[in-house]
Amino acid sequence: MNDATRRYLPLGLISLNDNHSVQVAPCVTQLTLKFVNVCFVAEPHSGNWVLIDAALPRQEHKIIACAERLFGDRVPAAIILTHGHFDHVGSALELSHHWQAPLYAHRFELPYLTGAQPYPPADTAAGGGIITQLSGLFPRGPYQFDTVLSVLPEDGSVPGLDSWRWISTPGHTPGHVSLFREEDKTLIAGDAFVSVQQESLHKVFLQRAKLSGPPRYFTQDWGQAFESVRRLANLKPATATTGHGPPIGGALLTTGLEHMLNHFYADHMPKHRFMH
Ligand SMILES: [Zn+2]
Ligand SMILES: [Zn+2]
Repeated sequence: MNDATRRYLPLGLISLNDNHSVQVAPCVTQLTLKFVNVCFVAEPHSGNWVLIDAALPRQEHKIIACAERLFGDRVPAAIILTHGHFDHVGSALELSHHWQAPLYAHRFELPYLTGAQPYPPADTAAGGGIITQLSGLFPRGPYQFDTVLSVLPEDGSVPGLDSWRWISTPGHTPGHVSLFREEDKTLIAGDAFVSVQQESLHKVFLQRAKLSGPPRYFTQDWGQAFESVRRLANLKPATATTGHGPPIGGALLTTGLEHMLNHFYADHMPKHRFMH
């Protein structure tokens, strides 16, 4: 990270870490673009690699440059979308065309990715910081990826990555998925939980690792979101990369997930969504 990469986003959002990549675990590299992460995951034996998520629009050149640093001229076997929010799919079509690589998403995410319906309006009263108040301006789709989109295999296998499986983690969106590698317990959580308080401009600016529930303004089903965090905590991940914020691991992750589950309704949910 250097001063030249610290720049303002059009909405006034700031990112300290733009275009910053870090190795999270063997063969797993997180690249931060503005305020969102993408992940490059390689399979050492086959030589395959896969891109997880596709950032905001017009980020394809930075993603391609990072891929070339990591993999030379090898193209990815697939681009896998944890979900279809605008900050995770913005450059998906351009990348898919560039590499001739298929996109994959969970079947419950298809309506938002095939033009059928937009995501519900953002919950601008969800609290947590100024980004929530701005979230009504965020694009809600739907996107038109029909020509390059496939459904993730029902058996949990991840196209191109033999040692990984995908896990259904709905709540933030109906078809949200996370990815997990059992052998070293590496987790790619998407927005099932994140490692920065994404609603707070101040916290996003600082980018200090702190576990937080899914971004509040866009989370559709809080009961499912809680169950999804519990499912991921039960895997006892050693290291996690999330959709927003720095990688997190060790006790910070273990105790952070435990604490999140114990205080989910008080600390991580919008107050007006409490069910009495
Ligand atoms: Zn999201
Ligand atoms: Zn997100």
